[in-house]
Amino acid sequence: MQTHASNRTIAEKDVDSVLHPYTNLKRHPEVGPLVITRGQGVRVYDEAGRDYIEGLAGLWCTSLGWGEERLVEAAARQMRQLPFYHLFSHKTHDVGVELCARLLAMAPVPMSKVFLAGSGSEANDTAIKLIHYRANALGTPDKKKIIAREKAYHGVTVATASLTGLVNNQRSFDLPIPGVLRAACPHHYRFAKDGESEEDFSTRLAGELEAMILAEGPDTVAAFFAEPVMGAGGVIVPPAGYFPKIQAVLDRYDVLLVVDEVICGFGRTGKMFGTETFGIRPDMMTLAKGLSSGYAPISALMVNERVYGPVAEESGRIGVFGHGYTYGGHPVSAAVALETLNIYAERDILAQVAEVGPVLQDGLRALRGHPLVGEARGVGLIGAVELVADKANRAPFPPELAVGARVVAKAQAKGVILRAMGDAVAFAPPLVISKADIAEMLRRFGLALDEAH
Ligand code: PLP
Repeated sequence: MQTHASNRTIAEKDVDSVLHPYTNLKRHPEVGPLVITRGQGVRVYDEAGRDYIEGLAGLWCTSLGWGEERLVEAAARQMRQLPFYHLFSHKTHDVGVELCARLLAMAPVPMSKVFLAGSGSEANDTAIKLIHYRANALGTPDKKKIIAREKAYHGVTVATASLTGLVNNQRSFDLPIPGVLRAACPHHYRFAKDGESEEDFSTRLAGELEAMILAEGPDTVAAFFAEPVMGAGGVIVPPAGYFPKIQAVLDRYDVLLVVDEVICGFGRTGKMFGTETFGIRPDMMTLAKGLSSGYAPISALMVNERVYGPVAEESGRIGVFGHGYTYGGHPVSAAVALETLNIYAERDILAQVAEVGPVLQDGLRALRGHPLVGEARGVGLIGAVELVADKANRAPFPPELAVGARVVAKAQAKGVILRAMGDAVAFAPPLVISKADIAEMLRRFGLALDEAH
């Protein structure tokens, strides 16, 4: 007999109806979903009322934590005033304008214009399209190749997944598309040679980048994409000297630098932007996640005059800049983003990260003593521990053991939600987390590690 729909649990309906992102779809019915029903502060609660510390701020985004009434009010006010309008065809609206102006004023390097979109992928996809458009505008149609790094994460559209350097974003999707070059991942612990200092490692990677550009032909290479701290690749903090050395190579061959600040932007690394933490000079910057504290979907692409000038010229020649998303700069999202930025300023979010960040970093580094932990790394309020089979020679566990995923599952049972990237377990809690909650998050994680050992 068929159960009446209303008697079915959320978990049962989920299994029947949802195609889940980033999930083993075949195993999902057997594993079953964790149903989250509400959140408050840095905690979310499941159907049974159990609390979990959200160690990854949802998906690295909920910087102000859950239950921030001012964002609810900002959304409700905007819904009443103007729930939808757009920026196409010379139209505009006040919150969209205010947000772009505010972002330009916050930009760590001079930027000319801001394009609003709905997600990190859309912002990066737009950056790729601008690179192509600009190359055509400049009469250099062969200069369009884009360099991205192993373990990069720039999104999941056809083009951005092609820049993403993680195997599961490309395998069986028939990606990457042509025109993408792959540079080395700057993870010192994993990829430095024996005895190679961070500076020497950075020098070597910059040399390899230069060799690649020369081999391809500088007239064919348009841009280099980079996250300041690589997030989904396993929280990889650049080694000393890395970005200045890379930037010098890019400058030499007239290669644009696109900095993906989707995770790092808005305080995550201790400064407002990762660009500032690591001394980078981007031509384009993409922002999302913390821009609205995850309360509404929104992203932004900032471009400097080097990019905007030729693009504007080309649109004049063609008659239109033929790109834009229905929900780009959605007024409700823009209003939520503006209020988020107000809160960051009023509560001095950078002072808060400076205050509690060291508790996370010291706590992670203290885990180095654990038999499973090969490396602990991070900056500000982002970090990771890398689990290894043999600490002495840094040997990883065989991937089929899925040790990272197993530890994260145990941590969830102990009341902390984290994410495994291979055998790196990432931490990026809401920026508003207290020292006591960081300690509690690490205590729960430590119990899971002990159990896994
Ligand atoms: N860039 C980075 C660095 C990210 O971490 C992400 C998502 O995690 C993206 C881009 C893609 O953003 P979205 O999932 O909003 O498309």
